[in-house]
Amino acid sequence: MKRKDKGFTLIELLVVIAIIAVLMGILMPALRRVREQAKRTSCSNNVRQQCMALLMYAQQNDGKMPLTTFGGGQWLWDMSYFATDAVVDNGGERKLFRCLSNQTNTDEDAYWRYSEARNFFASGLDSPEPTGTQERQQHYRVTSYCYLMETHSGRGRIFADGEPGSRVPDPLRKFVKTTIQAGSHGRMEFVLDTVINYPDGWIVSDRLADWAQGTNHMRGDKPDGGNIAFLDGHAAWRHFEAMYERYSIQGVVFWW
Ligand SMILES: [Zn+2]
Repeated sequence: MKRKDKGFTLIELLVVIAIIAVLMGILMPALRRVREQAKRTSCSNNVRQQCMALLMYAQQNDGKMPLTTFGGGQWLWDMSYFATDAVVDNGGERKLFRCLSNQTNTDEDAYWRYSEARNFFASGLDSPEPTGTQERQQHYRVTSYCYLMETHSGRGRIFADGEPGSRVPDPLRKFVKTTIQAGSHGRMEFVLDTVINYPDGWIVSDRLADWAQGTNHMRGDKPDGGNIAFLDGHAAWRHFEAMYERYSIQGVVFWW
């Protein structure tokens, strides 16, 4: 009988590969969960810090929040340059405006300078950002988050009982224009993870399509939930099952 060659036989190699495949199958979902948990934690930090910075701005300005957009930019994730300035000037960073679980990189200039990139008011990304106050109120960014802030021209109302499409148990609520002096701010949502659907289904990511970006935290083909920062500065995770359709614009519906 011939002595076997040194090294592995084909069978041995296949067995080793099969064992590795099984181990990967066990480990990968666990790793994915750990990674998603880490993203959620950093996201929770993002919404809280943005909320705190905006509250600080309001404290310095007679209790008024910065108007989030002046002309265009009616979607809840649109934020005027002026309003992001209020966050950055109060210690925030540009990366706070991006949820790492969102499949669209909203930190790219195409989103960060959305109204310029889409050429709504200006010449595109070749020139530096405008510096005048009025221009910074007109231009807006697309972020990963939604802001329940008033716009210059008004936003309409958040769905309430009895209105078409409403599944909201809360009393009628308006968008935040001015911080309210006292009361239960702990129940008033302010900065949210995006959860959005189109009549056809959940919007996840659609590079610079009409709806620009999509739902941040997905579990399979459904939203998983989102982080919410409240007007008292605390943040909490809300499971998708506890969310409602609350605001609709141009055929899409925002949930929180
Ligand atoms: Zn998030």
